[in-house]
Amino acid sequence: MAVVELSGVSKRFGETAVLDRVDLRVEDGEAVVFVGPSGCGKSTLLRLIAGLDDPTDGAIAIGGRDVSDVSPAERGVAMVFQSYALYPHLSVYENMAFALRLAKRPQAEVDQAVRAAAEVLSISHLLDRKPKALSGGQRQRVAIGRAIVRSPEVFLFDEPLSNLDAELRGRMRYEFARLHQQLGRTMIYVTHDQVEAMTLADRIVVLSGGRVQQVGAPMELYQRPVNRFVAGFIGNPA
Ligand code: ADP
Ligand code: MG
Repeated sequence: MAVVELSGVSKRFGETAVLDRVDLRVEDGEAVVFVGPSGCGKSTLLRLIAGLDDPTDGAIAIGGRDVSDVSPAERGVAMVFQSYALYPHLSVYENMAFALRLAKRPQAEVDQAVRAAAEVLSISHLLDRKPKALSGGQRQRVAIGRAIVRSPEVFLFDEPLSNLDAELRGRMRYEFARLHQQLGRTMIYVTHDQVEAMTLADRIVVLSGGRVQQVGAPMELYQRPVNRFVAGFIGNPA
């Protein structure tokens, strides 16, 4: 069964069609990477899946149920934003605990979840710090930690590496691949970086002008791009 299913999903802002009839089935445990240039609708797509905005047309199902009337908190997804969006006045621990505290989970469970996520992300030694005392890469890990503690069915990542310098970005690509293996959860990841997409994806979805150009395994897109846009973007000048 598809964990996330998009059926004819369109989004218009006024006259502008930002997403145009996007269809996709994301299978359980899969890492699907949407790749496309800035402005092609990647963030919009994640916001629709997360329930932060509604499609103009089409339907989104998560775990087999239509989510048009399901609130963001009840969709079983957790989104990591490009900006990290950490609370500056809270410690790393409390940033990670935040959603569980809102959900009134018992302290023992909160503590266990925060410490386990910190361990996975190698930030156990940073739990008492405030975000301003962290490097960019460490902040980024905290943002991922906040998603992990919620134990979502589906992780949504919006260009999580785009604020990091080139070297760290290079290392973090592999960290994401490892995280995906370790957590074994479904990930929908968007980026404008082809290398990131090639490293992480089970399947890549190439998006341009709000339309899906091609869906396939990284090597398939590389070797058999369906059009010039995909060829140019994935890097094989066919
Ligand atoms: P990406 O994440 O791929 O860079 P976005 O999804 O952020 O692209 O945006 C796609 C297009 O939709 C852009 O042209 C952007 O200006 C437009 N857009 C996004 N959100 C809104 C909004 N709330 N109102 C009007 N236009 C928007
Ligand atoms: Mg974006």
